Amino acid sequence: MKGKYAWPDERGYFGEYGGCFVPETLMAPLAELSRAYDQVTKHRTFKRRLSDLLSSYAGRPTPLYYAERLTQRLGGAQIYLKREDLLHTGAHKINNAIGQSLLAHFMGKERIIAETGAGQHGVATATAAALLGMKCTIYMGTEDMRRQRLNVDRMRLLGAEVAGVDAGSCTLKDAINEALRDWVTNVRTTHYVLGSVLGPDPYPRMVRDFHRVIGDEARVQLKKETGRATPDLAVACVGGGSNAIGLFTAFLGDPVRLIGVEAGGTGSDLGHHAARFAGGSLGVLHGTRTMVLQDQDGQIANTHSVSAGLDYPAIGPEHVLLRELGRIEYFAICDAEAISAFHFLAETEGILPALESSHALAEVFKRAPNMNKKMVILVNLSGRGDKDVESVIAYDAEHADEIDREAELSIHPAMRKWSAPTTSEES
Ligand SMILES: *Cc1c(COP(=O)(O)O)cnc(C)c1O
Repeated sequence: MKGKYAWPDERGYFGEYGGCFVPETLMAPLAELSRAYDQVTKHRTFKRRLSDLLSSYAGRPTPLYYAERLTQRLGGAQIYLKREDLLHTGAHKINNAIGQSLLAHFMGKERIIAETGAGQHGVATATAAALLGMKCTIYMGTEDMRRQRLNVDRMRLLGAEVAGVDAGSCTLKDAINEALRDWVTNVRTTHYVLGSVLGPDPYPRMVRDFHRVIGDEARVQLKKETGRATPDLAVACVGGGSNAIGLFTAFLGDPVRLIGVEAGGTGSDLGHHAARFAGGSLGVLHGTRTMVLQDQDGQIANTHSVSAGLDYPAIGPEHVLLRELGRIEYFAICDAEAISAFHFLAETEGILPALESSHALAEVFKRAPNMNKKMVILVNLSGRGDKDVESVIAYDAEHADEIDREAELSIHPAMRKWSAPTTSEES
């Protein structure tokens, strides 16, 4: 990137955030990866192969869709959806999985490993490994394996080995530790495909760059569709922050309001959400200095979100800097609001959004009605919701007796009828 937002520096810092906090044994592999990334990805052969795979295999460019019925029902700004949900494997994650796996292939590595929480990044990586004919091991907490049976089966069917991690809370952060351990041991043959804009340098910048195609495409598509390349507002959900950075990077230098949405879970007490900016503090986790949910002793806190992909105690370091500079604003959306947004989009547009993306949608649904009809909102539909159908059904069953649920939400009145038949407000 050029100009004002040209970061990280040579040491991998975004202002005071980021960097490379790893054991001695990982310094050399990370330096090698940095060098290879800088050199290989500049090559014409690499660029052409990546762009071919993204288009003919993954399904890029993804459509930019004007959600007309949604816009009408909310009665304000025009809402455009960037359809990352239509990519192969159902989410933006494949952009990064293919990018890194191809890099590893060019580096002569024959094996890739990855961590996964809900299994989505594991499935994307196992897919890329099969595509490129590489061996693949995915580390996953045994608790997560139990909760995400289908994704475990998908990875195995794709030829990957799923290694259960029975340590700590048996979830994502434990899986990351185990993957790092494997990498140290097998670094000559193996590349570690990290799944978001997290971890030590060069991961945050590398993952960002593999996802910036999202925003770059959206600019061109928006220009073609509306005559102007920039929206008034762009919104994306933020787990580690990769789909958000992928969308926002293209608009950092423009007068576009940018909003990232974290998981507000069920409440503001530590342990009940994954809102790092609302409830976190500076710390070091998995090799990077960033905002982390931790207790007073620096123990990593438990997190909760109805959406597995937003359920992580740290956020990418670049987000911390962009927030500090006032360039991106961050808000939290709670479970109930995300679930309502899921239903509203499904019934209004015929699209089941991922629960992660539903957080971004809920934020948009709050704002659109209060914005001028000439204004344009661009929202990243980071993934499809098929994987979340069971969670949504279970959530609804559990909350069926909370008749006032919709009334509690500060959302547009149209959304309160998400479960009722379409009424005359339409026409
Ligand atoms: C994993 C995931 C996310 C969260 O990850 P980011 O790195 O913040 O993008 C968001 N949406 C979907 C559909 C996901 O699968």
